[in-house]
Amino acid sequence: TPTVGVLALQGDVREHFAALAAAGARTCAVRRAEELAGVDGLVVPGGESTTISKLAVLFGLMEPLRERVRAGMPVYGSCAGMILLADKILGTAPVTSGGQEQETIGGIDMLVRRNAFGRQNESFEAPLDVKGVEGGPVEGVFIRAPWVESTGERAEVLAVHDGHTVAVRQDALLATSFHPELTGDHRVHAMFVEMVRSARG
Ligand code: GLN
Repeated sequence: TPTVGVLALQGDVREHFAALAAAGARTCAVRRAEELAGVDGLVVPGGESTTISKLAVLFGLMEPLRERVRAGMPVYGSCAGMILLADKILGTAPVTSGGQEQETIGGIDMLVRRNAFGRQNESFEAPLDVKGVEGGPVEGVFIRAPWVESTGERAEVLAVHDGHTVAVRQDALLATSFHPELTGDHRVHAMFVEMVRSARG
């Protein structure tokens, strides 16, 4: 049984634990580098990406996270987690302390726009066909959600809504604009747990 951690700095951590357990993973909270070292894969939850990013730096996790990503650890980011997996982001408010740009873990060659759906629609749901998920559409729950403006050659688009990319995979990294952990449908988490299993070999 693979152990999948959830980055537990801020955001909807508990919902991901439940979805991962239902998908057959052992779960654990990751707040420190030692905890990160013990997991086979990681979920970066939805929440507020600027907060998660600042706390990751503060807890000394940002560099260890980047190292694990470079070493091929599977990571799934939903919503704020998608933003954190993007190599480049748009719509960033400058971080108030230090005036620095928002840092990301990175790893997926994509440009993500924060709060992209937010202006028209703070929150909405829409059925989505997600490549790699069998058995009919996934109900996409979008909450001040980002979208993917563009992807590099190695990134594969898995789902599109209204002409905008909302799910991407690049090697062992998976990102969705929406929150499958809020729906009781565990197929996206099951796909990710499968990615973790195959990365373990
Ligand atoms: N708007 C949030 C951000 O920019 C993401 C929202 C979410 O995770 N539901 O981090």
